[in-house]
Amino acid sequence: MHTQKQSIEQLKNIPKVDFLLSHELFRDCNKSLLKNLISKNLQDLRTKIMQNALSPSQIQNTLASLPQTIKTHYDTLTSATLKPVVNASGVVIQTNLGRSVFAQKIIEEITPILTRYNTLEYDLQKGSRSSRYTHTNTLLQALFGAQEFLLVNNNASAVFLILQTFAKDMEVIISRGELVEIGGEFRIPEVMKSAGCILREVGSTNKTHLHDYIESINPKSALIMKAHQSNFTQIGFVKAVDIKEINALCKEKGLIDYYDLGSGYVQDLLNGEKPIAKGIKEPSLKEIFQNPPSLLSFSGDKLFGGPQVGIIAGKKELVDKLKANHLLRALRVDKLTLSVLQATLQAYLHNDYANIPTLHMLSLQPSELKEHAQEFLTTLQSNINNTFSFTLLPLDSLSGGGSLPNIRFESFGIGIRHKIICAMDLESRLRQEFSIITRIEKNYVICDMRTLLDGDKELIINALQNISQNPEDS
Ligand SMILES: *Cc1c(COP(=O)(O)O)cnc(C)c1O
Repeated sequence: MHTQKQSIEQLKNIPKVDFLLSHELFRDCNKSLLKNLISKNLQDLRTKIMQNALSPSQIQNTLASLPQTIKTHYDTLTSATLKPVVNASGVVIQTNLGRSVFAQKIIEEITPILTRYNTLEYDLQKGSRSSRYTHTNTLLQALFGAQEFLLVNNNASAVFLILQTFAKDMEVIISRGELVEIGGEFRIPEVMKSAGCILREVGSTNKTHLHDYIESINPKSALIMKAHQSNFTQIGFVKAVDIKEINALCKEKGLIDYYDLGSGYVQDLLNGEKPIAKGIKEPSLKEIFQNPPSLLSFSGDKLFGGPQVGIIAGKKELVDKLKANHLLRALRVDKLTLSVLQATLQAYLHNDYANIPTLHMLSLQPSELKEHAQEFLTTLQSNINNTFSFTLLPLDSLSGGGSLPNIRFESFGIGIRHKIICAMDLESRLRQEFSIITRIEKNYVICDMRTLLDGDKELIINALQNISQNPEDS
């Protein structure tokens, strides 16, 4: 151990901040961020020296590698953490992975709108201000019929805006079977509370009858809400009241009926295209719009396959009241959302499903997926050495995102095993080193073909080649 005096002597060897700032390694760095990092690193070193925590040779080494240490630290701090991943999990709508993917062509279509000034709130004919909600209204009406539409930031905002506008300090009647938690702690009862509504639960967890609603109506009632169960199903001794019956009851009693549809099942928008899955029992968006509730809302980026947005539809006089609520300003959608939604609606109208990747992936049939898997299997076997083994597997994928929880989407994929690396380690290396998200089943690391996009297979091959050459690396 060296003495206090030696320590003070060592401190003299620590370079000045300005000296390090001008180091060649830092030529392209942001100087103010860099300065903070350098000061912090130097301060840490001083502290360690004063605490006698380092030997003279350790101090030498630390000083010699200081610029590189700081550069590595800088690179970590400034690197993008929002980056693309390969979704080989087979879950099509993954909130954690950004929900619906945008087609390249849609991005190309909207680029001129976003990189130029545009008609967001401007009427070229009149030369005056217009509303940002007009762009999609006509397209939405063409798709769903004569309703008035309004867009907000997401479906959670739609629920909040509707409850706050029509039921603040009043009662909202809802079935006990629909007091759902959507995920990310979004719970219907909590949203009601924060919108200032009084929750009036009716029925039981498994059964709610029309008379339960009727008996609960009182002078404080404002609205009857129906919430889609979205992410779970009830089977057995169950009963729920259809939105049509609720609609009729509300008409009779002078209340508002509101259906939070959650995802919004889209089969009928596909105009007779191949079915997205067998055994789906719920009514589709088009069916619901044939007999619409007074108000409804759904997410733009779940099954609908568009941008994050809350799509509200309803009677004109009700939607006008929503528009008049000053809260709308805080929930309003921007030009990015509107341009992607406009392009998505056009894709629906033109049966251009390749431009709605979520729908494309959901409607891939098992036979097509099996063929893709077989091709991929051959490519893998001829490109990766035999430290890996590959097996074609029948799989079930999920739609995800709190939609169609009980529906099996029959799929195919590749099961991957390595001679030395166990499935858990392989899964984590693919994820951490190559941003490839897989899942594990029966000791296989699984790549489900359904959610692979253009270019993903090449990334997977590249990652596996890399791992086969560095099996010990972690
Ligand atoms: C997903 C969902 C929401 C919330 O929608 P976001 O788009 O996530 O804001 C609300 N209600 C139901 C029934 C849902 O399924």
